[in-house]
Amino acid sequence: MKILLTGGAGYIASHTCVELAQAGHEPVIVDNYVNSCPEAIRRVEQIIGRPVPHYEADVSDRAAMDRIFEENAFDCVIHFAGLKAVGESVAQPLRYYRNNLDTTLTLCETMQAHGVKRLVFSSSATVYGNLPTVPYREDMTSAGCTNPYGWTKFMIEKILEGQSTADHEWSVVLLRYFNPIGAHESGLIGEDPAGIPNNLMPYVAKVAVGELEKLSIFGNDYPTPDGTGVRDYIHVVDLARGHVLACDYAASHEGCEIINLGTGHGYSVLDLVQTFIRVNHVDVPYVIAPRRPGDIAENWADPTKARALLGWQAEKTLEDMCRDTFRFQQKNPKGYRG
Ligand code: NAD
Ligand code: UDP
Repeated sequence: MKILLTGGAGYIASHTCVELAQAGHEPVIVDNYVNSCPEAIRRVEQIIGRPVPHYEADVSDRAAMDRIFEENAFDCVIHFAGLKAVGESVAQPLRYYRNNLDTTLTLCETMQAHGVKRLVFSSSATVYGNLPTVPYREDMTSAGCTNPYGWTKFMIEKILEGQSTADHEWSVVLLRYFNPIGAHESGLIGEDPAGIPNNLMPYVAKVAVGELEKLSIFGNDYPTPDGTGVRDYIHVVDLARGHVLACDYAASHEGCEIINLGTGHGYSVLDLVQTFIRVNHVDVPYVIAPRRPGDIAENWADPTKARALLGWQAEKTLEDMCRDTFRFQQKNPKGYRG
């Protein structure tokens, strides 16, 4: 299939691009590089050994999107493009709503106009909010989001559900990611956050190479086995493979499905840090700090539906995630811009 990846130069999309190409598909990228750079595409091309067609454009630019759809007969679209920093979304809500909603609306209108009706969307476990019971299942009612970023995902899910109800030819897969970490085993592509990272794994990686002094563990008094927060960390390559299967699913079904992509296992902050230290033979100095406002104690996925509908399950271990992250960090101390 010929598949458009919006936000295709980003962290998850670049890994998905590799898996799609290696599964025999033809990925095409559109990105405005607001949070990425063309070097990521060059690295993808290096891994797969052939060029990937790519366009520099804003997905909310209708004229640009029309040109891309005129030049390519897409079978499916994966919509990764969006702003994703939770804290930034609290400080800049209008920018987040404008970018994430506009890109989605313009993309869907362009798809409708060109008769392309298969869409896989990057949603997030954040749409569940702080539910009292784990694991999180797709049919659980959201407890409400805690920040504008989460609400953009929530609203986009509603927009896409509405469109697939209105036009039965649409096939939409809403993928709710848990906590993607890790990197391609080549060490060529990985997560390259701008500035000081907010998320746990990129922060740990920068402490491990001495770029940051020490990790602050946000709270050790949660009602979890060791008191630190528990999350469902998933290797980005497993996640990427889930997208390949979601495109196949969209091609053979109509309607709208919500599907969790997680491992089904929760690991604590200390589990992750200690595994990172052990497998990479490095020190990661840390201190216990107060809880981070807005954080929940624990969540992990019920991945049953992904197995049933997509035939997908995560294969890589926490050890793999820690090893692959460190390899990318060591090979690219200054990220793609180095
Ligand atoms: P990323 O920032 O690396 O990738 C997003 C890409 O979208 C970037 O390349 C960025 O330049 C591009 N982009 C943003 N706005 C654009 C626009 N208007 N036009 C064109 N391109 C635009 O982020 P990621 O971690 O790879 O996440 C991909 C998607 O998955 C996002 O929608 C994100 O919200 C979602 N998601 C991520 C996580 C996570 O923890 N990384 C978890 C759940 C969901
Ligand atoms: N965390 C931490 N120190 C950090 C960043 C994160 O202790 O510098 C903890 C955080 O409190 C949570 C877990 O690590 O329990 C995962 O946080 P992240 O921001 O990566 O993901 P999210 O909270 O969005 O699931």
